[in-house]
Amino acid sequence: MKFGFDIHGVVDTHCDVYAAITSALVSAGHEVHVITGAVMSPELDATLKKAGVRYTHFFSIAQYHMDKGEHEVQWVDGDPWMDEEIWNRTKAEYCRTEGIRLIIDDSPVYGKYFEDTIYLLQKDPRRSAFWDTLAELLPRFRARPQ
Ligand SMILES: [Mg+2]
Repeated sequence: MKFGFDIHGVVDTHCDVYAAITSALVSAGHEVHVITGAVMSPELDATLKKAGVRYTHFFSIAQYHMDKGEHEVQWVDGDPWMDEEIWNRTKAEYCRTEGIRLIIDDSPVYGKYFEDTIYLLQKDPRRSAFWDTLAELLPRFRARPQ
């Protein structure tokens, strides 16, 4: 099965939790799609490596539209900008095209565009004691016999 994960506010923020989840999914033969607005760069690659996220596919909204060339992507202070409506629906279109069954993202603006994909809105994108506790529990379960 195919799963999608946002980077910023999700896998880059709760690294231990998402490293465990994505690693388990990839080990079990599933596809893990990292789905983000940003283009791949040495900095982003380092972020993903530091987060320990395992993935099989990478999708960038900005790169997709630059490659497709139908809508202009501008760069402002190093960040991509384009028509907001088109930008906001692109993750859902990618998930529909690729047959991704579930995505976890922290941006509520994308939610209304998903129809065939379960869109899980992670409401707490910040590090918090709750997330830290969850991360601290992970090693215990990793060592449990099947
Ligand atoms: Mg995000």
